[in-house]
Amino acid sequence: MAARERSYRCAVCRWQGMAEPIDVGDAAPCPECGVYLYPQTWASTWGFALLLIAASLGVVAVAALLLR
Ligand SMILES: [Zn+2]
Repeated sequence: MAARERSYRCAVCRWQGMAEPIDVGDAAPCPECGVYLYPQTWASTWGFALLLIAASLGVVAVAALLLR
C-alpha cells in the first residue's frame, strides 16, 4: 500500500510533521492534541516566504527610485 502521508501543521499545539489522512478530505487528527488538521497547501507553505520576497523587492525598487 502506497504511503499517503501529507505534511500537516497544527495551529493549536504547534505540532508539525507527516501524518496519514483518514478521510477523503485529506484531514487527519493531530497526534498531540487531537484537533482535526488539513494538509498544508503550496500557498500556505510558501506564501509567507513569497510575501517576504515581494516586500524586499518592493523596498529595493523604492530605494532605487529614491537614490537615483
Ligand atoms: Zn495539535
